[in-house]
Amino acid sequence: MESFDPTSKQGLPMLQLHDPVPQYAPDLGASMERVFSTLKRPLWRANFSFYEWSYEDDEGGAAAAVGIGERIYVKVEYETLLRLPEHPDHLVFTIRAHMDSLDDFAAAPRACAALAGQIRAMPDALLEYKGLDSSDKQSAVLAFLDAAAAPLAHKAEKLAAQAGKPEQDPKPKKVAEKPAAKPEAEPELPKPLGCLQALPETARETDTATALTEPVYFVDTYMFELAGCKLLEAVVAPEAPKGAPEGHVKLQIVLDRTVFHPQGGGQPTDVGELSAPSLPTLRVSFVSMRREDGGILHDCVVAQADADAWIGASKADGSDPQILCRVDAQTRRTNARVHSAGHLLDVAVQSLDLKWTPGKGYHFADGPYVEYVLGADSRKVDPKKPGDKEKLTADLQAAIDELVRAGGAVTIAQKAGVRTVAIGGLECPCGGTHVRDSSELGKVIVKKLKAKKGNMRLSYSVQ
Ligand SMILES: [Zn+2]
Repeated sequence: MESFDPTSKQGLPMLQLHDPVPQYAPDLGASMERVFSTLKRPLWRANFSFYEWSYEDDEGGAAAAVGIGERIYVKVEYETLLRLPEHPDHLVFTIRAHMDSLDDFAAAPRACAALAGQIRAMPDALLEYKGLDSSDKQSAVLAFLDAAAAPLAHKAEKLAAQAGKPEQDPKPKKVAEKPAAKPEAEPELPKPLGCLQALPETARETDTATALTEPVYFVDTYMFELAGCKLLEAVVAPEAPKGAPEGHVKLQIVLDRTVFHPQGGGQPTDVGELSAPSLPTLRVSFVSMRREDGGILHDCVVAQADADAWIGASKADGSDPQILCRVDAQTRRTNARVHSAGHLLDVAVQSLDLKWTPGKGYHFADGPYVEYVLGADSRKVDPKKPGDKEKLTADLQAAIDELVRAGGAVTIAQKAGVRTVAIGGLECPCGGTHVRDSSELGKVIVKKLKAKKGNMRLSYSVQ
């Protein structure tokens, strides 16, 4: 594995500075360059790599006899970047390394789950750079992390396992030591409503600092306005906007930060306005996230002349139009309530011990639902039993009514670099906007239970 030697890097341009990092130039170079040249507030990021411990003189193979949990270390580098106030041409970069053995890491199952997810998503070249330089080592580390993350498994799965299978060894390294053991299945993470998709890639990678657009919508659901945003890009999309008047184009605006929630993870887009002194005000009709760099694209259908004014402003040297983001408050409030209601409905489902595994979530006001995957021992609706579906629907309705009545703060946290949302005691990764307290949901109605290809779709509405 190559390493980073600071003394050899002083004064080098960014691309050479990062020379040993695979795929740095094609993937990250441009956005990092942008981060460095426009840096105002201090930033931090973290990265990880793996190190295998060995004796200096290990002829007898003593290191290999030690379990993988003791032998492999996770190194996390905490880095900060700060522009010097009195010498703004200079940036200060600090780095602090933390080393923990996999055994130590196993104490944090959620971190293990997040790390396993990262490893699975990485190309081989990057894994090699991070110290997982053989497929055997990758498999062994993944098996270890999956086993350590197992306590997060869905409650129903755990109950099923306890009922039908021998108890799991509490020491995960035993599982990892199985020769070339392929993980049997993806770890059963608590990702109830498909919400994880709404998180920027960069936020998932603990690299929020390098996301092109800072996702300020994560801070406060009820922050409807954000002033002083910087224009990074204004471009016309190649495709013509559907149903727009003749001569109109789709202008896409990227800012350094925004309060517009992009569509994804089951939650619909925010809509609203972008305005700036001396520029025509833009109506934002759709917002999406660019996966590659975390840039958030605000789509605005406008006349060519208006597009030209914004494009001109984005190219003008030295000018820095202070842009005001204003999201439509009513749409945001509705989206937050519908999304939070979906989470709380899942709490109701779990409280009835139906042994349903959460799948897809659709938290759009036009017909929201949560889908569940049913297993052999899941509670099913018996079509031959009169009133069975009605009974189950009524039980769910009573459970959700009680949860809303009881209320409780909705808490947001960052765990191992992943944003999590806890509602009604159930925590899961989520990139959505939520109410502050579940008592704000008012009336949540369980509308329909529908069995579909062995799964169960639970439709609901929020009044
Ligand atoms: Zn969610």
